[in-house]
Amino acid sequence: MTETQSPPRTGVLPSTVAVVNLDHLRHNAQVLRDRAGSADLMAVVKADAYGHGAVPVARALHESGIRHFAVAILSEAIALRQAGIDDEILVFGAPLPEQLPAYQQYDLQVNVTSPDVARWVADAALSGRPLRTHVKVDTGMNRVGIHPEVAVDVIDRLNLTPGITIEGVWTHLATADEPGNPFTLEQIARFRSLLGRIRTRPRSVHLANSAGLLMVPESLRFDGRVLARPGIALYGLMIDEDQIAANDLRPVMTLRTHVQHLNVVQPGESVSYGRRWFAEEPSRVATVGSGYADGYPRLLTNRAEVGIAGVRRPVAGTVCMDMTMIYLGPASEPSTVAVGDEVVLFGEGGPSATEVAGWAETIPYEICCGVSPRVPRVYEDGQTS
Ligand SMILES: *Cc1c(COP(=O)(O)O)cnc(C)c1O
Repeated sequence: MTETQSPPRTGVLPSTVAVVNLDHLRHNAQVLRDRAGSADLMAVVKADAYGHGAVPVARALHESGIRHFAVAILSEAIALRQAGIDDEILVFGAPLPEQLPAYQQYDLQVNVTSPDVARWVADAALSGRPLRTHVKVDTGMNRVGIHPEVAVDVIDRLNLTPGITIEGVWTHLATADEPGNPFTLEQIARFRSLLGRIRTRPRSVHLANSAGLLMVPESLRFDGRVLARPGIALYGLMIDEDQIAANDLRPVMTLRTHVQHLNVVQPGESVSYGRRWFAEEPSRVATVGSGYADGYPRLLTNRAEVGIAGVRRPVAGTVCMDMTMIYLGPASEPSTVAVGDEVVLFGEGGPSATEVAGWAETIPYEICCGVSPRVPRVYEDGQTS
């Protein structure tokens, strides 16, 4: 096990760590590659690889053969280049004209999200170094992208512009994770119809996120080179827990902390801010060293469970900034839990991030992205240790 990321090492044991299992990451990448068939993967490592650490994740995925990456914003792409990742990198976000020289300098692929952006990239390519683009077509997400009626013309003109290559024409699905939602097939049909109208076949097309790749085979069925853009499934998570099991995805991140203090709380006494939990009998309560400042949402108050020595235990009372209390059972029963014991908030040995997300009324994406910068990422790598 090696610790490679911020915060700086202080020589003391951190109370909370996010253990990132790179073997599981590579396993998930292989699962997705098998499911993608002849399509290639563009691994989505935006938001610090969904909280897992973009550089170690991209390095591990590169070792397992992935050559395309995507991030959300320019600075994330530059950070990967500065760490020595020399694969293809697409930035999903819409560029500003003053950012284009950086795309050229770092050989980053720019997302053409509007006719204005198309003009800016054409100007930048004429006056400077070449630019590699992916043209984003809006087939119904209405986030960023060019409307299909306009996109045909933009693509045909960009294809004739010196210094510009169109690496891909692409779109994004709004409902791929809702089986049977007809809008997914509607978006795919709109995209297909657009492709039929452009003059030059693009070097690649791509639509599928994790849910598309695993649940919507039509999102991969295109002529020529197809890419898929999985994010969440690489990290072993899906909104639908059944999809995790059905595809043998393995959790990459385990958020764990330890028992700081043990209490016996007397009947009628309460625990934590606002007195939201009361003991009905003499009760064993553990105080553990994580709270919402670590990214353990306050909505988990009186709702979540944690894993201690393989046993599920409920959160007792309000989640605090840096501590959370856990009910261990009646004081009349013996307990083996001791100060210093490991507590799994989610991941291996505890509930999944998807379960935690359910309790916190959100999706697993927000749970893993939300693990805060003060939590050290500790990398487990069976291949190199
Ligand atoms: C985040 C994102 C993805 C990855 O989505 P997952 O659901 O995590 O697989 C793919 N494409 C775009 C445009 C995205 O923004």
